[in-house]
Amino acid sequence: MGRTYLIKPDLDEDYPVIDYGKGVYLFDVAGKRYLDASSGAVTANIGHGVEEINEAMMEQAKKVSFVYRSQFTSKAAEKLAEKIALTMPGDLNWSFFVNSGSEATETAMKIAIQYWQEKGRPLKTKILSRWVSYHGITIGALSMSGHPARRSRFVPLLADFPVVSPPYCYRCPYNKNPRNCSYECAKELDVAFRRIGPESIAGFIAEPIVGAAGGAITPPKDYYKIIKEICEKHDILFIADEVMTGFGRTGTMLASEHWGIVPDIVSLGKGMGAGYAPIAATLVTERVMEPIRKGSKVIMSGHTLSANPQSSAVALSVLEYLEKNNVIDDVDAKGTYLKNLLEKLKIVFPFIGDVRGMGLLIGIEFVRNPKTKQSFASELNMTEKIVRAAKDVGLLLYPATAGEDGKSGDAIIISPPLIVTKREIEELVSLFKMALTKVKQELETEGVN
Ligand code: PMP
Repeated sequence: MGRTYLIKPDLDEDYPVIDYGKGVYLFDVAGKRYLDASSGAVTANIGHGVEEINEAMMEQAKKVSFVYRSQFTSKAAEKLAEKIALTMPGDLNWSFFVNSGSEATETAMKIAIQYWQEKGRPLKTKILSRWVSYHGITIGALSMSGHPARRSRFVPLLADFPVVSPPYCYRCPYNKNPRNCSYECAKELDVAFRRIGPESIAGFIAEPIVGAAGGAITPPKDYYKIIKEICEKHDILFIADEVMTGFGRTGTMLASEHWGIVPDIVSLGKGMGAGYAPIAATLVTERVMEPIRKGSKVIMSGHTLSANPQSSAVALSVLEYLEKNNVIDDVDAKGTYLKNLLEKLKIVFPFIGDVRGMGLLIGIEFVRNPKTKQSFASELNMTEKIVRAAKDVGLLLYPATAGEDGKSGDAIIISPPLIVTKREIEELVSLFKMALTKVKQELETEGVN
């Protein structure tokens, strides 16, 4: 491409121009085919070019695309909220629609603070979080994100909300493993709450499975049960950031369901519109809504395009598509099949340190030495090497970081659309092997062993 005025993620990079997409594949204008093994940014959950969604979008567009939420509601938004209430676990019955994951987590933060104000406890305003986490790019969401690399430029504007360690079993800070785990990292939360003072804390936010900041870091069995108990003991709301994990990605509607917990507030995004329209949501339980409904009756947040009928119609048809085709039912089996194939690659590529995750949210951490788990030097840009080599062979991967500082530590996420077939999973793994072979050769040429 010649000169462009589009501000791209990397201004100097020549990004391929995509022409169209179908199922798990994207095709660029030069005719190259890409297997979308990351669903973009873990977003295109039902694949590309699904006719039903496009039709639902057209139907809505023919009627009305936009109404302003302070003047009107719409059938599409009402129906979507109703369907979400019926689909979600527990009493997560209330939906506040926004347009991005960052807005959803930021809204969650505001609702938690407002809840305590309505309950006559206005000093509860902090929303604590974990290190090795990502909750969004806006200042409030970034304040909660334990991602030093993304925080660094804006430190003076950010609150110090990340306070506890993540449940990072591959590199357990307490030198335990899932078999002899004593949940020290969960218990840290109790200590942090006491130190900071529960009277100043409104909520605690966590991604059920850490995504972009860690590469599908998955907690041990009882972790969330303990976290939820600690939150309840101290009168602190538990917020699950399910922007990446929600809408079936891990084999259940919400990942929280794997651990049998119902969070007080949930943020959703990405897979909700599945890339067909920008839409996200903050879900609120009856318990949290009650004092607001009885009190000021207004949630002090919202955006011009919140609950617009166009995006609502899309999310509704995505939800119907998932249901009609029983898409979520197969996610666990497909994920297990893919994970087993990836595990086998460890023999050929010793730099595969860890394969983790649930359902079709799979993370791979790369290490220089699998025995000592020593990471590659950050100057080597191992994640970038792998993502680039994969793109060259027509495979899209999602780069994640695995380091405490959000810079070092190499990881990727493999998260194909949930409609991926067995044959496509096999093709994915074979393309991945080609990419890793290229990287292995590069490492040898550079004298890295
Ligand atoms: N929370 C989580 C868990 C995410 O993975 C992301 C996006 N990577 C966000 C929030 C922010 O979402 P968005 O990019 O749509 O603002």
